[in-house]
Amino acid sequence: MEIKYFEFLKYLIRFNRRVYLDHNATTPISSRVLSKTSRALKYHYGNPSSFYGAGRKSAELLEDARQHLAKAIHANPSEVIFASCATEANNAVLKSVTAHFYPQRKKIISTPIEHPSVMNTLAHLESQGVVVEFCPVDDKGRVLLAELEKQVDDDTFLVCCMLANNETGVIQDLKAVTKIARGHGALVLTDCVQALGKIPIDLHAWDVDYATFSAHKLYGPKGIGALYVKQGSPFAPFLHGGHQESGLRAGTESVHNIVGFGAACQDVEKLLADAGRIRALKGQLIQRLKEIKPDCVINSPEADADSLPNTLSVTFPGVDNAGLMGMLDFRGIAVSAGSACSTGEDTPSHVLKAIGVSDQAARETIRISLGHDTSAGDIQYVARVARDYIEGRTSYVNMLAPAQLNESILFDEKTFILDVRPPDDRKRAKGLPNSHEVNPLHVERYLKQFPRDKQILVYCPGGGLSVMISYYLKAQGFKKITNLRGGLDAWRKRRSDLYEKYAGQNVTVLEADKENS
Ligand code: PLP
Repeated sequence: MEIKYFEFLKYLIRFNRRVYLDHNATTPISSRVLSKTSRALKYHYGNPSSFYGAGRKSAELLEDARQHLAKAIHANPSEVIFASCATEANNAVLKSVTAHFYPQRKKIISTPIEHPSVMNTLAHLESQGVVVEFCPVDDKGRVLLAELEKQVDDDTFLVCCMLANNETGVIQDLKAVTKIARGHGALVLTDCVQALGKIPIDLHAWDVDYATFSAHKLYGPKGIGALYVKQGSPFAPFLHGGHQESGLRAGTESVHNIVGFGAACQDVEKLLADAGRIRALKGQLIQRLKEIKPDCVINSPEADADSLPNTLSVTFPGVDNAGLMGMLDFRGIAVSAGSACSTGEDTPSHVLKAIGVSDQAARETIRISLGHDTSAGDIQYVARVARDYIEGRTSYVNMLAPAQLNESILFDEKTFILDVRPPDDRKRAKGLPNSHEVNPLHVERYLKQFPRDKQILVYCPGGGLSVMISYYLKAQGFKKITNLRGGLDAWRKRRSDLYEKYAGQNVTVLEADKENS
């Protein structure tokens, strides 16, 4: 009896443990920040533009928050503009500076490892005639300064270089980048989203013109970002409307979120003081992973000065990252891949490509990003689960290679095809014939409709989400689960003949079970 109870406890501990290691995607809000944000939301509802007391109080809170952020980045409060997110801030700078200089000067130089909010804005500007060039990086993602020196010329109006990369954690020498840009009168934008709270930031010392930030990467609320515009650097509003933010960003300020952002910035010193502990945990993890898989490749720079303390990009040759992530998720561990999966692309990450990682190796790469809530026990747990998977000690979900998905499987009576693509992706492309569509956000509401005696073939756009759902189904007692590796995108590429012939045929949309909702 006692032994059974002990086994049950072990089961609970095993399957209830939650280890969040995706802090570069977003961070949990800290309890102090949450309490300040909630208080502001509840009590300080006055519009900061109103002159009466409630409005003046909100305006005062905004100014306090502005000061906290300015202090954390070594800037003047008058140089800080709040925006809805860093994506908006990056868009605003790139478009505003272009409007100021183009066509007198035509060129922007950036790096090939920027965040999509920069990359896609640059692609848009290029379509409008701006010349966009990317400065090469080395195999760890460090900008080759000698190459940058050669590229920057009198036609260049902006150099755009992130301070720290979200996928590998590589840190750039911003001071050196700015010096080169200044040599030709070019301005500098740096995306500091991943750096704030992880490494010291001194914008005045580096002499950059523009920098961008996001609260949810440093234990603050989501949906609030900020922009630093150096005194005197050109900037025109991105949104037209009221006179908020000194006329530079129209729209009633999100007071509670800005208060939360300010509160998070007050913790920056404390966060920086914890960076050494986090870096030591990362070191332990690297050591364990190298013991488990000696041929694993660390893509993040190993020198402390070159990489964020919390970020680790690692490739496990021969281990499909979707399968590994699915197993980690099944055991309560959140990490991310170098490639976008659930968003519907089967293409390897542009960052990994830029540092010379092959397409195959990119599909064997995961990103682990630690945070202030990460403990040594968490690291041991992750290493143990990863070891069990890599050494083949855990039961796998079967993986079907896209080339193997042929008519005999598509039309097999004993196969139940389960489409777990998000609704937007279904608009983008037709699915496999004979699919059963469910809403992937609550698969538990359809379980009764899934046959237990058939092989269930699960697919999503890129093969990431479906593998997580496959593991979930295994945990629910479904024995015959197969996941389509690389998802629909990969299959479309390999078997375009079958896709053209059968896609979208005989699709059933399943109704969610109301009892379970
Ligand atoms: N820049 C970098 C480097 C990021 O990592 C992110 C978020 O993932 C962003 C910009 C966009 O931030 P936001 O979510 O505030 O738009």
